[in-house]
Amino acid sequence: MTPWTAVTDEPLSAPADDDSAAHGDSRIRGGARDSAPPGRGEEAAAAGVMPLVAMIGGGQLARMTQQAAIALGQNLRVLAGAPDESAAQVSADVVLGSHTDLDALRRAADGASVLTFDHEHVPPEHLHALVAEGVTVLPPPEALVHAQDKLLMRRRLRELGAPVPDFAPVEGTADVAEFAEHHSWPVVVKATRGGYDGKGVWVLHSQDEAAEVVAAQRAAGTVLMVEEAVPWRRELSAMVARSPFGQGAAWPVVETVQRDGVLALALAPAPGISTELASRAQQLALRLADELGVVGSMAVELFEFDGPDGTPRIQVNELAMRPHNSGHWTQDGAVTSQFEQHLRAVLDYPLGDPSPTAPLTVTANVLGAAQAPEMSMDERLHHLFARMPEAKVHLYGKGERPGRKLGHVNIAGAFPGSPDDADYAADVRERAERAAHWMSHAEWTDGWDGHADD
Ligand code: ADP
Repeated sequence: MTPWTAVTDEPLSAPADDDSAAHGDSRIRGGARDSAPPGRGEEAAAAGVMPLVAMIGGGQLARMTQQAAIALGQNLRVLAGAPDESAAQVSADVVLGSHTDLDALRRAADGASVLTFDHEHVPPEHLHALVAEGVTVLPPPEALVHAQDKLLMRRRLRELGAPVPDFAPVEGTADVAEFAEHHSWPVVVKATRGGYDGKGVWVLHSQDEAAEVVAAQRAAGTVLMVEEAVPWRRELSAMVARSPFGQGAAWPVVETVQRDGVLALALAPAPGISTELASRAQQLALRLADELGVVGSMAVELFEFDGPDGTPRIQVNELAMRPHNSGHWTQDGAVTSQFEQHLRAVLDYPLGDPSPTAPLTVTANVLGAAQAPEMSMDERLHHLFARMPEAKVHLYGKGERPGRKLGHVNIAGAFPGSPDDADYAADVRERAERAAHWMSHAEWTDGWDGHADD
């Protein structure tokens, strides 16, 4: 498998999360932009030192992109809804405002070399307006719309000959019933826009269930579609990056595990995947990036299932045109992280090497417990580091709430080892899950008692 593709001669053709803890930093730029001092990134850009990248969204993806920007001598500007959002806490150049407010977007874009995203919820008409005003928007709105609208994405991918589940638009319950007659129940109904972390996805088993969901959603103005329920064996993510110059780079294909619609685990490379299937998934993702005109990092979420002849097949579930939860392993397990690669791509620098640096790297998300533990996050971190010095912890600076993504832990497996060795893979996975569970719950999954000998 060649995880690295570079073309050198000719160009190839998360909703912002709300957070807590006030900041009050005078360098944060708010509503009265004209009278406020310039942000640090703007100063550097004005001095001709470095280009300025503006990222729409103040969530953890922007926060971690900021880390990569620092290493590249840059200062990311973020458009955040509030000064205590994850990225706003760590950025010296924050524009406060909503991603649905064209004026706020203009303020974020002012003086920036490029405008990019940590989520896909900016209205397309605003992006077209910015482009018309001369702003460089990457990925371009014509590409991004395929990560914003699932029906449009399905139609385009089918046109491009990419494997997708069968689907149909939904105007009323009759459309769902007719689709189920051809494909059998259950079917999956989805909001075409605005869904995330499984919100906006309904697995329906009968016409009665369909009637209920369709009536409620249509009353709320949600546009719906229906698709086959894919009998997937597991979910995969093929992450790639593409630059305007025409370079493409593909990381190893990852296995993802979702719980309650939220990514819980990512294993890179996907254990047991054949070279042939991995290569097919990578080539598909690179081709889609190229055909859709994507610039930046992109995750192609895939279903892996058994074909009628028993051979593994893939179908595309959805696209994310930004750094993605399934790519967090690259921070501690690849030569180039997805965050650095996104910046390289939108600035049209040559792309970095996406090769893995460990036989297997596992990301486990730290999700808020139903009841936040009494032990503070700080104390949990002390205990985790004392027990597991190999754990790489990434916290997003967020208050604890049930199910909320608070951070993640990466564990890179030692050499020698292979993701195809079941015992090796189980060990790396267990350590990542144990560490993340500890950070969420202050409980060791293996019953270990650090004070047993006290
Ligand atoms: P979101 O935009 O909220 O992430 P997705 O479309 O990715 O929504 O769906 C969330 C999860 O629902 C997927 O990760 C998968 O587990 C399941 N799912 C989605 N579509 C299908 C389908 N057609 N067949 C089977 N499972 C599906």
